[in-house]
Amino acid sequence: MKTEYSLMIGGQATAGARDPFAVIDPATGERFADCPAASPEQVDQAVAAAAEAFKSWQYSSDEERKAILHRIADAIEANADELAQIVTREQGKPLALAQMEVGGAIAWTRYTAELEIPVKVIEDSEQRLAELHHKPLGVVGSITPWNWPLMIAVWHIMPALRTGNTVVVKPSSLTPFNTLRLVELINEQVPAGVINIVTGEGGIGRAMTGHPDINKIVFTGSTPTGQDIMRNAAGNLKRLTLELGGNDAGIVLPDADLDAVAMGIFQTAFLNMGQTCAALKRLYVHDSLYDDLCQRLVNIAQEQKVGSGLEDGVTFGPVQNRAQFDLVRELVEDARAQGAKVLCGGEALPGNGYFYPPTIVADITDGTRLVDEEQFGPVLPVIRYSDVEDAIARANDNPNGLGASVWGSDIEQARKVAVRLESGTAWINNHAEVLPHCPFGGCKMSGFGVEFGEEGLLEYTQSQLLSIKRA
Ligand code: NDP
Repeated sequence: MKTEYSLMIGGQATAGARDPFAVIDPATGERFADCPAASPEQVDQAVAAAAEAFKSWQYSSDEERKAILHRIADAIEANADELAQIVTREQGKPLALAQMEVGGAIAWTRYTAELEIPVKVIEDSEQRLAELHHKPLGVVGSITPWNWPLMIAVWHIMPALRTGNTVVVKPSSLTPFNTLRLVELINEQVPAGVINIVTGEGGIGRAMTGHPDINKIVFTGSTPTGQDIMRNAAGNLKRLTLELGGNDAGIVLPDADLDAVAMGIFQTAFLNMGQTCAALKRLYVHDSLYDDLCQRLVNIAQEQKVGSGLEDGVTFGPVQNRAQFDLVRELVEDARAQGAKVLCGGEALPGNGYFYPPTIVADITDGTRLVDEEQFGPVLPVIRYSDVEDAIARANDNPNGLGASVWGSDIEQARKVAVRLESGTAWINNHAEVLPHCPFGGCKMSGFGVEFGEEGLLEYTQSQLLSIKRA
């Protein structure tokens, strides 16, 4: 795996104008490589290059852009091993999961390539022909987080390119290398300036969100940053897609078949060591199943092998960064102090890596930080309830509204509960599943706008009504 990377501006590999910054390997807690850092002037240069490239790229044909996206997918596929290694090294997840992430990036790229940009005929009469068309927006700025860094970059970049926009990317400073490599690969397939990348801590994201020549920001990350982006983006009325934090509730109904659902609950709560925006983060379990389900979750947790993502047989990697690791520890300690019972895990592993084993916390309820706040890490609070109405009210009594789930055998009963949950997605007997054809997004403080499918694609366009007078 190479560790020397450059910014990409106007098709040229470009050295960062500021001092490089260290990227930490979460399995060791130590620096493993330096990342180039852009200056605000280089953000301007990247935006100018993207704006220049837009002049012709916007008129490239659908067929041309489809073919290019497939060639990009080929290039990701040809470099899949290297990309997975980079993801594991800087993000920490087990290599098999990083390989799945790369596989997802390929699948999403190919699916997005094949999406059609619809033209809707609104009226076709003797008086007029009225058609609704969709045109690209211009320069799109993508700002990505550190949890699924490659996959989320692909989620942002591919629909932007498919619809004829040009892109400036800024990855998380905690996980920049996979995206620097991805952009190198994309750059080989597109005209100069169609894809650009600037990296750097503090200030670089804001330089983008306030930039007068960026027309849209697509952002995945925390709610406070999303709010800052919204404020800063007002100057030129940027379009925004904000995919922010969640605190997803799951409700286990009294008729749930625990043999069928326990593993799914564990996997969707601890997906990516719990560092997934739409992971299951609060589990409400009916009194009649509470002890049994807690025990099953503990059993599954104890089967996990915690360690470096590069080690054979490891199923559970470190938390990605020190701040998140400290937050998880703080929330568990607070829960303990409030009288909750830590059934397994609950202590960081010794050493300098950010290892925290899967942790199940019982005898806890709303009003405790671990339930009310997003833990974004490997710990699941399990809350007892006896009245389904009460569980629904508690699930909804949270500022977030990304995903939610209901687990039960009678699907019609489960559906009645699911549709009352305040969330962008409601799953039944599943959670955290995202698919390239299913629009995904949040409500309340989890953001707005959707990604994926035709609806997600059209967020990278503006509509233009073409009205032709006939009589
Ligand atoms: P942030 O929202 O701070 O960072 C995400 C991205 O935004 C990074 O690229 C970051 O750059 C950039 N950024 C930070 N501040 C600004 C700003 N003011 N304007 C524009 N861009 C900015 O997330 P964190 O990494 O700090 O994670 C904190 C919390 O966010 C987690 O605890 C979790 O709750 C949530 N989160 C949610 C995710 C999701 O998938 N929905 C993913 C990751 C985190 P830089 O790295 O250079 O600071």
